[in-house]
Amino acid sequence: MTDQAQLRAALAAVAASIAAHADELTALDAAIGDGDHGANMKRGFDAVSADLDTLTRHPLPEALKAVGMKLVMTVGGASGPLYGTLFISLGKELAITPDDYAGSFARAVDAVAARGRSAKGQKTMLDVLYPVADAVGARRPPNEIVAVAHDAAAATRDVLAARGRASFLGERSIGHVDPGARASALIVEAVAGVLS
Ligand code: ADP
Ligand code: MG
Repeated sequence: MTDQAQLRAALAAVAASIAAHADELTALDAAIGDGDHGANMKRGFDAVSADLDTLTRHPLPEALKAVGMKLVMTVGGASGPLYGTLFISLGKELAITPDDYAGSFARAVDAVAARGRSAKGQKTMLDVLYPVADAVGARRPPNEIVAVAHDAAAATRDVLAARGRASFLGERSIGHVDPGARASALIVEAVAGVLS
């Protein structure tokens, strides 16, 4: 498979998983946010799916940037610009270091943190993306990377939210899984399923 064919397959798998879990993501966001995360993510990845051939017609770095731009335009909320940054930055990094997937992903996660003025441990998507970047960097096998992602998402339940809408709840944010972290774990699982 070419890079673009793998990217198309991965994005289609992500869109299917997000659609299948949209209600769950919305319920998680209803508990500690405004209840739109499932709809936001589904709208964005449906738009990517609908435009897959056009978005991925260029080599991988350009294709990833096009996908990121599409997500910025369609997801909305706080998460749209952040997932957009993840894909756009990954594309930019791979254009510079085409053979360094792990380093490129790690630097893309840093770009998300810079964009969100956030860090690991604040009950956000970063609580999944950083451990996944570490696991990818350590060359762990795909099934272990997926387990790391799901464990990290589940662990956000016990964390106090310090960024995003959930932070307005203070202590009351504890006891709920972060919707963005859960969505990130689903994305990791879908991508790993295609690449492995
Ligand atoms: P909104 O909060 O604007 O309604 P969404 O519901 O789509 O946007 O996304 C909420 C998710 O975005 C959160 O669960 C969290 O994981 C993530 N998030 C919010 N703010 C930040 C931030 N500053 N840094 C990283 N992730 C964030
Ligand atoms: Mg929301």
